[in-house]
Amino acid sequence: MKLEDVRHRLAKHPEKQYKRRPLTSIKQIAIHHSGTREGDAFSFARYHVHENDWPGIGYHYVILKDGTIQWTNDLEVISYHVQNHNPSAVGICLVGDFRKEIINTNQKDSLRSLCEFLLVKLSLSPLNILGHNELLQGKTECPALNMNELRQYLTQNYVEIYLENKKMDVSGIIKEGITFVALRPFAEQLGYQVFWDGEKRRIYLTKK
Ligand SMILES: [Zn+2]
Repeated sequence: MKLEDVRHRLAKHPEKQYKRRPLTSIKQIAIHHSGTREGDAFSFARYHVHENDWPGIGYHYVILKDGTIQWTNDLEVISYHVQNHNPSAVGICLVGDFRKEIINTNQKDSLRSLCEFLLVKLSLSPLNILGHNELLQGKTECPALNMNELRQYLTQNYVEIYLENKKMDVSGIIKEGITFVALRPFAEQLGYQVFWDGEKRRIYLTKK
């Protein structure tokens, strides 16, 4: 997964600022296409700021044709991309117009990896990943992609984790027989506190 952090290099409105949220208020990941054959985070940011008069780019990630993922907003930023769902949604935009062209393998692979990362990071399930058109119930064709196929792919690797009989608020992804989870929420729900020593690059788990 090739990730390029461009959050601080994009056009921003001189006065306006997006509101922010805690990560726990994120409940959906919304998938978009740009509806254009070309473009990138820089051109979309200029358009959203100069033409739409928005505080900044509307998306959290942009996936280029070569599969590069541009990280465009902190996940805490409540940017504009799915109307009244903005406060609870993260926006991923794939460059292309999938009404007229087919998503290429680079973009498809990057989208899958990014979704897996976000499921683990945000404790979500594949059912929380929706097309823009599904969230807004047919008011747009965006992203013109087969969302069931994406969810089915993610479901193959996704696992729920139960502590005794209670479902934990933690998502796991299994790769090659190894289960990847976010350590902090996992350990905290087991009753441990997590301390990070950056100098020694050590994590200490201590009983709460
Ligand atoms: Zn859209």
